[in-house]
Amino acid sequence: MGPLRAAAARGLRRGGGRGRGAAPGAGKGSKGSAAPGGRPAPPAALHLFGDPAEVEALRGRLLAWYDQSKRDLPWRALAVTEPDVNRRAYAVWVSEIMLQQTQVATVIDYYNRWMQKWPTLQALAEASLEEVNELWAGLGYYSRGKRLQEAARKVVSELAGQMPRTAEELQKLLPGVGRYTAGAIASISYGQATGVVDGNVIRVLCRLRCIGADPSSPAVIDRLWAMANALVDRSRPGDFNQALMELGATVCTPKAPLCGECPVKQHCRARLRVEKELALASRKLLGKLPPVPDVEDCAVGDCPLCPPAAEPWDSSLGVTNFPRKAAKKQPRVEQTATCVLERRGHRGALEYLIVQRPSSGLLAGLWEFPSVPLAPGLQQEQQREVLQDHLQAWTGQPVAAGSLRFMGEVVHVFSHIHQTYVVYSLPLDGDVTLDLASSPSRWVTEEEFRASAVSTAMKKVLKVCERQRGEESGPAKGSKRKRGAKPGAGGSTRPGTQLSLRAFLRAPNPP
Ligand code: SF4
Repeated sequence: MGPLRAAAARGLRRGGGRGRGAAPGAGKGSKGSAAPGGRPAPPAALHLFGDPAEVEALRGRLLAWYDQSKRDLPWRALAVTEPDVNRRAYAVWVSEIMLQQTQVATVIDYYNRWMQKWPTLQALAEASLEEVNELWAGLGYYSRGKRLQEAARKVVSELAGQMPRTAEELQKLLPGVGRYTAGAIASISYGQATGVVDGNVIRVLCRLRCIGADPSSPAVIDRLWAMANALVDRSRPGDFNQALMELGATVCTPKAPLCGECPVKQHCRARLRVEKELALASRKLLGKLPPVPDVEDCAVGDCPLCPPAAEPWDSSLGVTNFPRKAAKKQPRVEQTATCVLERRGHRGALEYLIVQRPSSGLLAGLWEFPSVPLAPGLQQEQQREVLQDHLQAWTGQPVAAGSLRFMGEVVHVFSHIHQTYVVYSLPLDGDVTLDLASSPSRWVTEEEFRASAVSTAMKKVLKVCERQRGEESGPAKGSKRKRGAKPGAGGSTRPGTQLSLRAFLRAPNPP
């Protein structure tokens, strides 16, 4: 269960809608794949599990392997031991949402703390968004926690605390629950015989059945869901789905699959193809020409499941020819100026000013250092002026641009944004009056900052400041700043020296 999991599930939800009912022949790739009457042609045998005996054997082997090799994970234990069906579904649901885009090893601690704090839907429904964000801080993709809580509130207030009992109902009634999550909750918690398709399942199925077309394309998405639903074991659907995902996470890994240890290698057509190619190569080495044609993709011209003609099978990749990388949208490139305002608190400890983001949109409700988006292509001085204007509007007082000290840059990649934070600091020796109507703000110690609902990016911002301070305070070490610090107008910016409030609030010198 790796980072591909939610991406795939999301893509599949999107694509599932488009795929069904798409006009055959409308796309280039589908030419030749339509049957008479306009219906999509059935997939070639290469891509099918057409033999019921093989399906039975595969289920048996996979489940036997899972029983022996599965990892001991807290949500698995709860799914087995929790007698209350609503609590069980909730426990699985939380794990599935946390595992989207996040590694198992990272999730375990978050999961345990979450379930300890909010062991039931009712407890979560009563929590504040602030508490949810605080516990979620560092897990990324913060809207997941917020949506989970919104959905829990809906179950409590509109569904009398009863979780919907089928995959279809879960997907229909709960915000943030897509096809994958619904299938996982229903199969694991209720024993509904419904398949799941996440990044790990995509990889395993594409290899088992030599599917090399773009895994985010509607034709592939539909085929994979159909395959997952057909394969799922009727008596142990939850275990089967987890076994398939476990196989993808631990054996059939993206770059170095352990085919020799694979419990379903007998059923793997990617592996078969590699074996055939090796046999062919050794025959050629021995000067024996093959009596039959080389290994083929499949017998269907322009097959929507085979690798595209422009990217044929590459022998050097072996089974990792499958799956192909999904067409990826390039993230937006953005820049933000952010300012670490700091002062000495009552007991001498350094304190930082943080403000709360709006309750909707990216990083909703999280706390951050005062920040402002930058237009592309601004020079350093222009960036500084933008930040200066922002701070002035916020404090209602003039700010000397020169008192803002450049500390470095932090790059943070969100799912769809490549964000660069240009970090400045501004030490103060007094308080400032803030426009509390525009956004809530508070002073926090470093410890409080780390316990607050702040994003990983903001933790990196603080680290840059601390590192910079550390470098500057070391007598032998020179500054490694990319851009030189600019002393404030009349204010010293030596490390450790607090800028006077008067200097901070002094109007910039006229040009
Ligand atoms: Fe994956 Fe190799 Fe097993 Fe095929 S044999 S499913 S490629 S690990």
